[in-house]
Amino acid sequence: MNTIITRFPPSPTGYLHIGGARTALFNWLWARKNAGQFVLRIEDTDEARSTKESVDAILESMEWLGIDWDDGPYFQTQRHDIYNEHIDRLVEQGHAYYCDCTPEEVNAMREEAKAKGLKPMYNGKCRNRGLKKGTNTVVRLKTPDTGVTIVDDIVKGSTAFQNTEIDDFIIQRSSGMAMYNLAVVVDDITMGINTIIRGDDHLVNTPKQILIYQALGAPLPVFGHVPMVLGSDKARLSKRHGAMSVGEYKKMGFLADALINYLVRLGWSHGDQEFFERQELIEKFDLEHLGRSAGMFDMDKLYALNAKHIQKKKPIELGDDLVPHLADLGIEAQNDVFTQGVIETLQPRSKTLVEMAQGAAFYYMDEIEFEEKAAKKFLKPETSDLLNKCAHALEELCDFSQGPQEEMFKQIMEETGLGFGKIAQPLRVAVTGTTVSPGIFEMFIALGKEKTVQRIRKAAQFCTAQG
Ligand code: GLU
Repeated sequence: MNTIITRFPPSPTGYLHIGGARTALFNWLWARKNAGQFVLRIEDTDEARSTKESVDAILESMEWLGIDWDDGPYFQTQRHDIYNEHIDRLVEQGHAYYCDCTPEEVNAMREEAKAKGLKPMYNGKCRNRGLKKGTNTVVRLKTPDTGVTIVDDIVKGSTAFQNTEIDDFIIQRSSGMAMYNLAVVVDDITMGINTIIRGDDHLVNTPKQILIYQALGAPLPVFGHVPMVLGSDKARLSKRHGAMSVGEYKKMGFLADALINYLVRLGWSHGDQEFFERQELIEKFDLEHLGRSAGMFDMDKLYALNAKHIQKKKPIELGDDLVPHLADLGIEAQNDVFTQGVIETLQPRSKTLVEMAQGAAFYYMDEIEFEEKAAKKFLKPETSDLLNKCAHALEELCDFSQGPQEEMFKQIMEETGLGFGKIAQPLRVAVTGTTVSPGIFEMFIALGKEKTVQRIRKAAQFCTAQG
C-alpha cells in the first residue's frame, strides 16, 4: 500500500479554532496510525485577511496540542510559480482557455440563465475563440457539458453533481493569481496528498476540484467530509457558544490530551468508549467510524474528561503545565518535588489546571491569611492549647508519613476527648486559611513538617490574640 499522506491547510485569518483543530487531529491520527506523513500548509492567498500573528498562533496551538507535522509549513503565497506552470499546461493541452469577457458581460450571462430558470453561470463564450493571454484575460477550466461528477466520500457516501450545473469556472485571475480551488488541487497533487479529511463546508468545492484533478490527469485522493461541530442549540458552533480558540482552552486550564480526547469524540467513535490516552487514539482511530451526524459541543463533558485526564497523569507530567497557571496567581514555582507533592493532593479534586493552581496557592504562601468566617468559628482563644499540642506532637514525629500522623491524631483524640473533625478543622484553617482543602495528612506531607508546624504555631498565637 502507498504511504498515507494527509494534510491540514488552515487559512491564517485568526487563531486555531476548535473545528480546525478537530480536522487537523483526524488527519494527524490517520497519518500516525499508518506510519504515514502529515503535511502542514498555510493557505494565505487572501493577503488582506492573512496575518503573521495568525500563523504564529496556529503553529503554537498545534504544538501545544502535540499535533506535529512531517512536512511544511508550506505557504501558498510562495507557490505562485508552481500554480502558474500547471495553469499553462492546462491551457496548452486544451483543458483551459483565456477569456476576456468583462464583469458586465458575465453578469448579463448570469441574468440570462436565471431568466431561463437555470443556475446563474458563465455561458462558455470564449471556449473556442483561441484567445491569447492579455492584460484583461482570466483562465477558465473547460468543464464537461454532460454527465455527472461523482464525489465518493468515505463519510457521506456517493454524491452526484450534474456537470451542466458547473460552469467553466475561473482558475486564474487577470492579475495572474491562481484561484483557490486550483491552488488547493495543485498543492495536494504536488505534496502527494492521498487522503483528505475536512469539514463538509468544503463539499461544494469538491466537484470543481475533482474536475481539476481530471484535467491534470492526476488520481483522486480519498475524500472524507465530516459534519461541522454544533453548539448545544444545534446551530453551528460559533463564538456565542463560548470559547472558540484552542488557545483559550489552554488558558482555561485544559490539558492538551483532554482536549484531543474530547475533539476526536465529536465526530468519531469506538464503541461507547469516552476516555482515550493519546497513544490509544493513534492505535484505534479509523475512517470507518467517522460520524455522519454532527457532534454537539458540551462543556460539561469536556470538564469531566479533563478531570479524568488530570487524575490519570503522574504529578511530574502535570508540573510544567501547572507552573504558568501558578505564575498567573503571582506564585513563582517550578516543576520540582515540592510542586509534584502539591499536585498529588489536588489531582482528585481539580477539573482544570486553573482550579488546581487556585487550590495550590496556600502551599506557596509565606503568610497565611485566615478567612474571617473560618477564623471566627475555628480559631477561638480556647483552641490555642489544642493547636500547640498538635504542633508539638507533629514536630516530635521522626517519620512524617501518614501512619505515624494518624497514630498521633488518635492519641490526641483520646487525651482531649475531641472527635476527629474538632481537631482537624482548626488545623485545616491554621494551615490553609480556609475550611476546604485536600485531606489533612496528605496535605501536611506535601507541605512538609517544618512549614506545617510553623503555620500551626502561628495560628495558635492568633487564637491567643483573639482573647
Ligand atoms: N483552508 C481551508 C480552511 O481553512 C481548508 C481547505 C481544505 O481543507 O481543502 O477552511
